[in-house]
Amino acid sequence: MAAPLLKLETQTEMPETADCVVIGAGIVGTSAAYWLARAGLRVVLLEKGRIGAEQSSRNWGWCRQQNRDARELPLSTRSLGLWEEMAADIGEDLGFRRCGLLYLSNDPAEIEGWARWGAFARGEGVDTRMLSATEASERGQATGQSWAGGVWSPSDGIADPARAAPLIAKGILRHGGVVLQGCAARGIERTGGAVSAVITEKGRIWTPQVVMAGGVWAGSFLRQSGLVFPQAAVRSSILSVAPGAEGLPQALHTARVSVTRRGDGGHTLAISGRSQLDPTPNMLHFGRQFLPMFAKRWRALSPGGLQAWQAGFETREIWALDRETPMERARILDPRPSAALLRKTLARARQLLPALRGVPLQAGWAGYIDSTPDGVPVIDNDIGIPGLTLAAGLSGHGFGIGPGVGHLVADLLLNRRPITETAQYRLSRFQGSQWGKVATF
Ligand SMILES: Cc1cc2nc3c(=O)[nH]c(=O)nc-3n(C[C@H](O)[C@H](O)[C@H](O)COP(=O)(O)OP(=O)(O)OC[C@H]3O[C@@H](n4cnc5c(N)ncnc54)[C@H](O)[C@@H]3O)c2cc1C
Repeated sequence: MAAPLLKLETQTEMPETADCVVIGAGIVGTSAAYWLARAGLRVVLLEKGRIGAEQSSRNWGWCRQQNRDARELPLSTRSLGLWEEMAADIGEDLGFRRCGLLYLSNDPAEIEGWARWGAFARGEGVDTRMLSATEASERGQATGQSWAGGVWSPSDGIADPARAAPLIAKGILRHGGVVLQGCAARGIERTGGAVSAVITEKGRIWTPQVVMAGGVWAGSFLRQSGLVFPQAAVRSSILSVAPGAEGLPQALHTARVSVTRRGDGGHTLAISGRSQLDPTPNMLHFGRQFLPMFAKRWRALSPGGLQAWQAGFETREIWALDRETPMERARILDPRPSAALLRKTLARARQLLPALRGVPLQAGWAGYIDSTPDGVPVIDNDIGIPGLTLAAGLSGHGFGIGPGVGHLVADLLLNRRPITETAQYRLSRFQGSQWGKVATF
């Protein structure tokens, strides 16, 4: 299980009507519901388990522009400011700090790649600085070794995955919204083709607008209404160590291991991109579409087991709305981490950073990361059913841009000028033979 997640008490009474129902209280759903409630809409946010308990509390907490795909860069830049704006409005510390991210390497090809990205990003106004060998070794002195080069991105930062989504939900309550936990949405009802209600395990809510922000569950949920959202998930294993190691960079990436300071003073350790592929019915169905993505990352992927199949989040099943669904059988996806990968991660971190050697292991956990075939999210309110908006497929880097994704959802629903371009986030890019290129990050 992931390190402790802040618990928020929310309403239990379900309203009969709403201006908008948001499904899924991860960083995307809480942010979308927050901006909608702040704009004055009567919003209901539904969460089958606990706020933030799936991907949004299991991640490293990085909020980065660094190495973003061009299609996501404006959204990540805007999101940094939105983290601050939300925290100020809600009056809570979301753990967001522009502490800078440090990348170190001894691989000339990797450094060259960062330099190419930097040349592009500086043209977009991003503050990203290449480090010479001397500068990299100086910034990385906690490693006690020298480095050939690196990158320092001073305006990027981290937020606290154990607190962010629950505290944003607190903001929804402050703006008059309703948040229901332990309440799965089973499906939508339509009148004249358009959304008219959401059917939950506790009854019906009449509403003309629904936002599906269900993370790994989004594809199978949409399938119930005949919509196709190509989505697949990988299982990523990660661990934390107790407080005690001082003088480390707040957020450090190296190819062998990455280390992030946590809100409690401990550190999160992980090997970037290293994941298990647990086959699911959906993954087999969309295998051809995901081939380019998996081929690009095959070195970091290893075959997993049957836990995802058993958890049922990528089922091809069509379920009845008056009976228990897979979402109620798996309130919180809490996959088993790979023990071998955790051992390797800890050993590498202790080898890299001597200060971690005397610090005990705190927790190890895993999370399913949902992805689209091109590694760029879908944020779209024109997906085939009027009144239904999709915001999912954040593809392993959605925590940092969550506030911006939520804002964009609100912009689409309120028909106001969007904070960034939206064309690159359309679901229709996966239809026919028009496939986007796989994202670089
Ligand atoms: C190990 C790991 C490391 C990562 N590191 C980073 C990082 O450093 N930086 C970064 O930006 N991103 C990172 N990510 C990715 C990031 O965590 C995700 O992209 C992001 O949290 C996705 O948010 P979400 O709201 O879309 O999904 P989730 O957080 O998964 O939320 C979806 C929610 O919807 C609920 N739900 C689903 N269906 C229903 C339903 N029918 N009814 C009611 N509720 C429903 C689920 O219970 C869940 O709580 C990482 C992910 C992992 C796992």
